Amino acid sequence: MKDLIIIGAGPCGVSAALYAQSRGCDLTIFEKEQVGGLIGKVSKVSHYTSVIVDEDGESFRKRLENQIKAYGLDLRYEEVTKLEKKDAYFLVTTNKGSYEAKKVIVAAGSTPKELDLDSKGYEIAHWARGSEERVSGKVVLVNGGSDGACKEALYLSKFAKEVHIIQNQEALMCINEFRKQIEASSNITVHTGVSLTSIDKDGDHVCKASLSNCEEIKSQEGLEVFAMIGQYPNTGFIDIDLSKNDLGFIVSDIKTPIEGLFVAGDIRVKAVKQVATAVNDGALAGIEASK
Ligand SMILES: Cc1cc2nc3c(=O)[nH]c(=O)nc-3n(C[C@H](O)[C@H](O)[C@H](O)COP(=O)(O)OP(=O)(O)OC[C@H]3O[C@@H](n4cnc5c(N)ncnc54)[C@H](O)[C@@H]3O)c2cc1C
Repeated sequence: MKDLIIIGAGPCGVSAALYAQSRGCDLTIFEKEQVGGLIGKVSKVSHYTSVIVDEDGESFRKRLENQIKAYGLDLRYEEVTKLEKKDAYFLVTTNKGSYEAKKVIVAAGSTPKELDLDSKGYEIAHWARGSEERVSGKVVLVNGGSDGACKEALYLSKFAKEVHIIQNQEALMCINEFRKQIEASSNITVHTGVSLTSIDKDGDHVCKASLSNCEEIKSQEGLEVFAMIGQYPNTGFIDIDLSKNDLGFIVSDIKTPIEGLFVAGDIRVKAVKQVATAVNDGALAGIEASK
């Protein structure tokens, strides 16, 4: 039996593992996709103290991966499909096997939400990085007006002919830094108080997008559509009764009321969801779990 199992190798899970292993915990981290979580996919990591200037998510994520190797952490690429509490231990089932642990830290974060419309077979993207060629010289629609959406819209505007930000609230919900850059941009148009209601295709490309105010955005070369409308929590595998808010995020301190169970990072309800707060949660969970 392991002392500790950590579910998720985003910034939170890696931080938890480093702090716990250094305190003598025998642990395993399970990761279903790739080390780095959400931040590994962004076009630029902003504001995190000590980040390399203009560092992209891939570079940041690789540094996390290197840290895992350097510290000899036991990382396994397996998807956790069930987490159960037995009498004196936790049973963690993955797509490859079952494991027992005295304690568990759930650092499984969140996943981008899909748009509620018929995409007619067109694949709506969530991430700007990797889409540079796809958007080159084209008209791009970014749904969402939060920090993440605005930052990624700014990145896409370097390659696209035009970028339209579609925000259902009355104003962009981003920080001043991004708002000023958007205002200064010559090829970004912001549409507030509206949502995307449908897309039309001509052959294999999107030729028209309709907005809730009856406005239409058309392009002969094809529109490229991105959904950055927020996240839903990765809690589906947790077979333990925990309090959740109406979006499904866990309402709990890092130490849950269940003995030996910790929740940390973006999966729990908290005021600020950034790398800084994810690694803070991870450090606290790792130290507490190793006591
Ligand atoms: C578009 C965007 C831009 C952002 N930009 C910044 C920024 O510039 N600066 C900043 O500080 N923050 C930024 N953030 C926020 C930051 O990315 C998150 O706060 C941070 O990644 C949360 O870390 P986490 O470890 O809690 O969760 P996540 O990063 O979501 O990591 C969770 C990990 O758990 C894994 N996982 C999930 N379910 C399972 C399972 N069942 N089994 C095994 N593994 C599982 C996932 O694959 C993932 O690797 C941005 C967020 C977005 C959406």
